[in-house]
Amino acid sequence: MIEFRGVNKWFGPLHVLNDIELSVQPREVVVVCGPSGSGKSTLIRCINGLEQIQKGDLVVDGQRLGDKATDMTLLRTEIGFVFQSFNLYPHKTALENVTLAPIHVRKTPRAQAEEYGRELLVKVGLGDKFDAYPAQLSGGQQQRVAIARCLGMRPKIMLFDEPTSALDPEMISEVLDVMVSVAEEGMTMMVVTHEMGFARSVAQRVVFMDRGAIVESGTPDAFFSNARTERARAFLGKIL
Ligand code: ADP
Ligand code: MG
Repeated sequence: MIEFRGVNKWFGPLHVLNDIELSVQPREVVVVCGPSGSGKSTLIRCINGLEQIQKGDLVVDGQRLGDKATDMTLLRTEIGFVFQSFNLYPHKTALENVTLAPIHVRKTPRAQAEEYGRELLVKVGLGDKFDAYPAQLSGGQQQRVAIARCLGMRPKIMLFDEPTSALDPEMISEVLDVMVSVAEEGMTMMVVTHEMGFARSVAQRVVFMDRGAIVESGTPDAFFSNARTERARAFLGKIL
């Protein structure tokens, strides 16, 4: 579903992605962790073309990014992206946030988009908040609307960039629980997070990045109990 082959990226002189090799299978959940500045956000932003690569190949759902035949706008509709900051439309209700893109981009009939939107809001535990505006919702609730909004597009891939790091501690689990249920339904996911409980419960693989490179890649168990590199062990020592 996602394949990095010898991917390199620079910001000016800064080599931010260094020969990345990574392939993510359909229905696989991959957690990406590593120190701040190691290139995690850049890595997943490349997948939907928010950042461009300079060397190597990146193939998403069978389409090579940068090819003339690859319609990036169309491909983006297949990829949900959940950010640290929730980025909801402030003047739209929760339900409108979820239905806007399906109606205007996917051309789903409004009644059908609303029916599915309500179903998704119920699923993320917001069955009583259809008409609430973002400012009337807690951070955890807003992030759950943001996830429902992505799901409303029926994406093939979901990318998460530190989705719980802006939340108060008591709201983290309600968002993680929703992510677990999305994973259990078979979504292909790449999740930048330091929530190792989440990694243990649903990830098939944990990727550890340092200074633009993938330094380790393995099952959560192998990574947590048996990290091979000193850099990974030092990182785990700080977050666990
Ligand atoms: P992480 O998400 O692991 O914290 P990032 O992918 O955000 O790391 O950043 C990797 C490196 O690239 C950092 O050194 C960061 O300062 C740099 N960087 C990120 N975005 C830009 C940008 N738009 N321009 C220049 N440098 C950037
Ligand atoms: Mg980041």
